[in-house]
This record gives sequence, structure tokens and C-alpha cells, in this order.
Amino acid sequence: MYADRINALPPYLFATIDEAKANMIAKGVDVIDLGVGDPDMPTPSHIVDSMCEAVKDPATHRYPSYTGMMEFREAATQWCKDTKGVDLDPATEALTMIGSKEGVAHIPLAFVNPGDIALIPDPAYPVYKIGTQFAGGVPHIMPLLAENDFLPDLDAIPADVLAKSKLMFLNYPNNPTSATATSKFFEEVVDFARENNIVVVHDNAYSEMVYDDYKAPSFLAVDGAMDVGIELYSLSKTYNMTGWRIAFAVGNREMIRGFGKAKSNIDSGAFDAVQRAGITALSSSQQCVDDMNKIYQERRDALLKGLDALGIDMKPPKATFYMWAPVPEKYNSMDFSKLLLEEAGIVATPGVGFGDYGEGYIRFALTQSVERIEEAVERMEKLDV
Ligand SMILES: *Cc1c(COP(=O)(O)O)cnc(C)c1O
Repeated sequence: MYADRINALPPYLFATIDEAKANMIAKGVDVIDLGVGDPDMPTPSHIVDSMCEAVKDPATHRYPSYTGMMEFREAATQWCKDTKGVDLDPATEALTMIGSKEGVAHIPLAFVNPGDIALIPDPAYPVYKIGTQFAGGVPHIMPLLAENDFLPDLDAIPADVLAKSKLMFLNYPNNPTSATATSKFFEEVVDFARENNIVVVHDNAYSEMVYDDYKAPSFLAVDGAMDVGIELYSLSKTYNMTGWRIAFAVGNREMIRGFGKAKSNIDSGAFDAVQRAGITALSSSQQCVDDMNKIYQERRDALLKGLDALGIDMKPPKATFYMWAPVPEKYNSMDFSKLLLEEAGIVATPGVGFGDYGEGYIRFALTQSVERIEEAVERMEKLDV
């Protein structure tokens, strides 16, 4: 019954974990879920209030514009100017998305012909690969290895692959590894994209989730980046708005136009009331972001102690709300996540769920309170691994 593209989808690796988790809960175990990358804290109240006002205005009830409200694109580009120092034209270099997942899934439709190659990091957010395949494209895996600080080795991509490559996805600060990229790396990417005629899509979903005075660079802030790529920003993680579905793409005008053409034939834009709330989020004081980062940082430091107790030695991440921990040697990522769940009631995501190169790691999401994380740490300390 199903099309080949559906039959070709990888098996849902988390199904066994989900089932084991449900079993533990049914047995009465107090499960601590550090599995899902979804902020546990509420959307800041000034944003919620703005939505409540907006939804009462019938002007927001009609079809939105395909490219997004001009006022939202102005707020988005002003935010990029203020926080990243990037100058953008809201009319031609910005586009509202219904969440960045929507963007990632649809961007290949604009740039990839059947048989063309897209360069995909591994481990990674799964939609880069699947979005490419849905467009008939062929993913070429760029391994993200610890010895390369989880950056792709661009020199390792074979010439015959490059000849057919149209698109490259990147994501720093990174999910799941929490790795960060320097502006120097982005400069190399710009040169590489120029030489090989590749459209770069930098997914910057975690741009604001940073610690210890670290600031995540924007790809577009690098000289020449506007010629070769676009950057995706999401309000989901930054303002605890995952349920609202609001994000934006900025960058090269022709690329924004092409992506917009694809989108205008798929969706009818983001709800205007949500865009108005998005304007409030982007244009108000960013104190709420700093406040959330302080909380994530405390959680990170609390979990670090538990990992230490398990004999896992890792540096505290500078960004994202993930801890990408190497699993003790005698386990693979699936076995270790099972052990954590069955013997400590802790849910974490096996690295292999993000691709073959995620094997050997487990991802903890800092989406529980410090108290709950401390409870998880106590349980870890009792484990014999
Ligand atoms: C969470 C996440 C997204 C999804 O963002 P939405 O705007 O909620 O669709 C995109 N990319 C990465 C890497 C993510 O982790």
C-alpha cells in the first residue's frame, strides 16, 4: 500500500525504549525522563499574553501570507542584527517557517533533483536525511567524530560525490553531540561551498542556548556566507515554544526565494497570532533566555557528577541542553540505555538512534529539574557498571 519512500524509512529504534519505559511505569517505577529534547519549562508569560491578545483579533484568523508577516520578518532580521551582527533585508532575505523541522523537510525539494546528493552529518537530527530522501535525493554521510571535535572532515568527501552534491546540512551548536563550531570552520565551509557549488543550510536551532559566556557564531556572519547559504532559526528551544511551530529562514535571496516557492505550494503559512507572539519574543528583553540558560547550566553541572560516578569523563558542553556521553566500554548505546532504564529508572537516548556514528554514545537531555537530576545522579551512583 505504501510508497517506496515510506517503506524505506528506517525502523523506529526508540520503540523498544518507549515500550520498556511504559513497562517500568506500569510496574510503579518513578521514571526520570532525560530522553526528549523538548524544554520542560513554560513559554515566558509575556509571549503567552501577546498570543492571547492576538488570537482575539479577527485579523489574525484569515490565511497568513506565504512568506510570513512583514512585521515578523522585520523583528526576525532586527534580532539577527542585534544578536549576531548580521544585516538582512526582511523583504527578500527572510521567510517565516512553521518550525524549522518544516524547513528542513522541504528545503531539499527546492534544491535537489532525483539522484542529486546532499551532504548529511551523522549523528544528526534525522530529518536532514529523510527530507533529502523524500525529495529523491541521495544522502552522503559526513561522519562527526570525536577526534574532529564532531565537525565534518570536508577533505574526506570524494570528488565524484562532490560532483553530484547540491546541498549540505550543518547544525552547530549541535544536536545530539552538543559540539560547537568556530567562525573559522564556517569560513572553510564558505570556500568549500563556493568551489563545489553547494547550497549550505545551517540549522541554528540552539544558537541562544549557551553557557559560561560562550556565544555561538552565526554562519551568515562569516564573509561570503550570504552567497552560498541560508541559516534556520527556531523559537522552539530559545523561548520554550516547541508546541507553537514558529521559526524563520534567513540568508541568500535566491535561495530564500526558491525555498519559498516550494513552500507556497505545500503550506499556507504560520498562524498570524503565533507570528505576533513571535514578534514579542524576538523584540522584547532577552532576559528570559539568560534566565533559562542559568537553569540549564545548573542542571548540566548536576548531571556531570552522576556521569563521573559512572566513570564517564566528559567536558561540560558549552551549548545546547544535551550531554553526549561516551558509554562504558563493555556496552553498546542500546544496551547501556536499557541498563539505565531497567536498573535506575532513567531514560536517555541511545546514540545509534541518531545514525551509525552515534554508536558508543548516549544522549541525556537536561529537561528535568535540578532536584530530579540529583535524584538521577543518586541512582547512578548506586549502579555497578
Ligand atoms: C529541535 C530541533 C529542531 C526543530 O525545531 P522546530 O523549530 O521545533 O521544528 C531543528 N533542528 C534541530 C537540530 C533540533 O534539535
